[in-house]
Amino acid sequence: MASGYAEELRTVGRMLWEAGLVSSNGGNMSVRLPDGGLLVTRTGAMLGRIGEGDLVTVAADGSSPGEPSMDTEVHRAVYEATGAGVVLHAHPRHAIALSLVADAVEPVDAEGRLRLGIVPVVEPERIAKALRESPIVLARGHGSYARGDDLWQALQWTSVLEESAEVLWLLRAMRQP
Ligand SMILES: [Zn+2]
Repeated sequence: MASGYAEELRTVGRMLWEAGLVSSNGGNMSVRLPDGGLLVTRTGAMLGRIGEGDLVTVAADGSSPGEPSMDTEVHRAVYEATGAGVVLHAHPRHAIALSLVADAVEPVDAEGRLRLGIVPVVEPERIAKALRESPIVLARGHGSYARGDDLWQALQWTSVLEESAEVLWLLRAMRQP
């Protein structure tokens, strides 16, 4: 069942952890299955070492035989609003810090400007709607929500955002008197 998806979730989860984009048990991911259901990381799963039982199916009506991420309703709203193939929630730390002092993250580095443009900081109830306009958004003080055609694309948006946020952070530090 959905083994190709499971392998990609495992690989991307490990990359998120190794890149410092999630805490040990933070973040969550889902992919949309051909039958309209989702494959979602289990609540509290360690994304860096997704094992047997850490991936849970959620049917199109929202029912599940397991304990999917507590964020599953947010993911479902994103799929409904955007038609995306995947949703990826991470905790990129520089981006989180910036989200507490700004209403948007505006990259100044070349890749961030090219790939992302302005990344809005939103309250939780606005995540799905904001993702219609932007491939990635920040929930204030919490983390990023990216949508993508596949997990690789969502990983790219997430890592580019954190890189841009870190560059902004470094610039601020250098500009201190
Ligand atoms: Zn989170």
